[in-house]
Amino acid sequence: MAVSLPEGVGSAAAQCYDGLRQQQHRGQDGSGMVIRNDQRALVRKRLGLVAEVYPREWLRHRAGCAIGHNRYATQGAPSALNLQPHRAVTKDGRRIYCASNGDVTNFRALRTQLRRRGVRFTSQNDAELLAWLVADLSDEAGSFPDALRRLRSVVTGAYAAVFLVGERIFVARDPFGFRPLVCAPLPNGGIAVASETIAFDILGADPLTYQEVRAGGILELFRGRMTVHERGGDALAPCKFEHVYFSRPDSTVFGVPCSLVRRRIGWRLGKESGFRRRTNTVVLSVPDSANWIAQGVAEWLGVPFIIGGLIRSHTARRTFIEKEQRIRDEGVRYKLNPDRTWIAGATVLLVDDSIVRGTTIGKIVSMLLRAGAKEVHLLIGSPPIRHPCFMGVATPTREELVANQVTQRALRRVLRVASLTHISLEGLKASAGPLTREERERFALLLRSFLRAPRGSLRGSILTRLEKTDTSRFCYACFTGEYPIPIPPTGRSQ
Ligand code: SF4
Repeated sequence: MAVSLPEGVGSAAAQCYDGLRQQQHRGQDGSGMVIRNDQRALVRKRLGLVAEVYPREWLRHRAGCAIGHNRYATQGAPSALNLQPHRAVTKDGRRIYCASNGDVTNFRALRTQLRRRGVRFTSQNDAELLAWLVADLSDEAGSFPDALRRLRSVVTGAYAAVFLVGERIFVARDPFGFRPLVCAPLPNGGIAVASETIAFDILGADPLTYQEVRAGGILELFRGRMTVHERGGDALAPCKFEHVYFSRPDSTVFGVPCSLVRRRIGWRLGKESGFRRRTNTVVLSVPDSANWIAQGVAEWLGVPFIIGGLIRSHTARRTFIEKEQRIRDEGVRYKLNPDRTWIAGATVLLVDDSIVRGTTIGKIVSMLLRAGAKEVHLLIGSPPIRHPCFMGVATPTREELVANQVTQRALRRVLRVASLTHISLEGLKASAGPLTREERERFALLLRSFLRAPRGSLRGSILTRLEKTDTSRFCYACFTGEYPIPIPPTGRSQ
């Protein structure tokens, strides 16, 4: 998250805080922010949730610019030392602070090179590596935009990064555009950059002005003004898992609202399940990420969706992004509770976004059977995950992924479900592309106005974007094993 404001306008610290708080789901280990206040950079980093990390006094600083980050551990342990932003220093003494989303896959090779040149790292984190690389490259290149241009040929992997140098913020996104990065003008004359558009909603920005930072793009923000050093191009491999699970449903990611993509996944999944409507059947979702997929399944099959069939505690954290199995298991117990009113004696179509290790969904199915469900059919909004991610999502090793341990038939038995349906890869791909005739008919029934949206309106721009989206360009590597970049031979970020 980055905020740059015109001189004397508001507090970038408070606005960065609002944006970070909205994006809490992207990282729950800890949070960090650097602000520029009276010619000084002030840094605050702590383990914990955003609301716990920043005291009131911090938000009152009259800072003109700020960068911040919520950490979810992929590269390096979930420790205070690995919290971002990280700092590096150029030869002429300028300090560079960096916050980044994504994993650098040639991390170890680059780190070894820099260590040989005398850099002393304080963390195991990619953002520190990026900060030192940019410091090093700017010593050679003479300017930060040129250093960021060179960075693209030095680094492989994913980065959606912001760099604070003095009062200026530089923004850079890798040429594959794995992780989302968006920018928007603010009502107070400032400009903000974030992973997800929901960060701008809370700042009162106009959704029609939200724009993607294009893949390979390089921007500079200074006192609320933006300079484009590199326009960049279409992303070569945006992460499909952002649409399926990672991003919040009310965010527009890679130009398309996640809630719409998930609803379409649900329609496809309902169709592909071949399930025939019966009486005494309900659709339940594993909340919250599968809610929209379940809504789509229910609409397609004409079965009631019981939105509170599984109630999620709102003080619970996201279990997928927890590093330890023990915490994930405990998390499920505290996080979810079935409402027997709707479950006892019913056939349950349980909808989830993905199956990774299989343990969480197994516990949920047991919960439903204990609550009296006659039988449980499991519908999953992504194909089986068989390959680890190296570009910023902490999936486990190949061996730990349940899809590589047992056949789908055996998994069905282990999970004690009457049937198990994963959406096909083709079905998943189509969810961000042009609407099919069947989907148009569905919209005509549900929300005719969606299809009649004039060009230039928000909905009109969504429809145009769907028409233009080349769905073959997304990264689907965790389902297919076809990685768009070279992958380290022995695990994470070599
Ligand atoms: S491998 Fe999967 S999680 Fe990783 S970037 Fe590709 S689609 Fe996203």
